[in-house]
Amino acid sequence: MNPKNIKWKSEKYGRFMVEKHGCRLRRQTDEQRFWLKVKKTDMCWLWKGYLTRKNGYGKISFNKKDQVAHRVSWQLKNGDIPTGMSVLHKCDNPPCVNPDHLFLGTQRDNVLDMVRKKRHWAFVKPESAATGERHSSRTYPERVARGDRHGLRKHPEAVRRGENSGTAKLTEEKVKEIRSLYKTGHYTHVVLGNMFKISNQNICKIINFQRWAHVK
Ligand SMILES: [Zn+2]
Repeated sequence: MNPKNIKWKSEKYGRFMVEKHGCRLRRQTDEQRFWLKVKKTDMCWLWKGYLTRKNGYGKISFNKKDQVAHRVSWQLKNGDIPTGMSVLHKCDNPPCVNPDHLFLGTQRDNVLDMVRKKRHWAFVKPESAATGERHSSRTYPERVARGDRHGLRKHPEAVRRGENSGTAKLTEEKVKEIRSLYKTGHYTHVVLGNMFKISNQNICKIINFQRWAHVK
């Protein structure tokens, strides 16, 4: 259908349209609405609708969801986007929705691509990157949780130690037993290692509190 033959009656009827030679009312589909927002040039098909300030991508409400325009365009041509994949531009033109200019890649590809082409914001605006003396850890050193405010001190139980580590061969009881047996002076590292089925090097570290240091 030629879009020129469509009269939009958006104010009165919402998203309905009337064909010129007939009085049939049909609901405008999201796809029709999508292509009305596209200006096709010889190279890129530019998005006339809303563009995000952050990266200049087009935005549209499609299938009752806020979506990125060039992703919708890719989906209209190729079907669903595999989970975790990004739709990237061959033409480096963020508002472009020409499906021939789009290809699939991972988010990692996208960032690498940006960095390679020096489009990453840290290249575009190096003065806004807070490095060196302007880094927040220098300007607001009091905000960094150091010492007793560090998570390791405040929530020691959150760190998986000892038996909780998932790879532990010993238990806290056995560790205490190893240390007390060694204190008696009757056992060597090797003998204790054989008894507890671990290496004598590990016995040494346990006795010196380099392993299982939290067990006193
Ligand atoms: Zn393009």
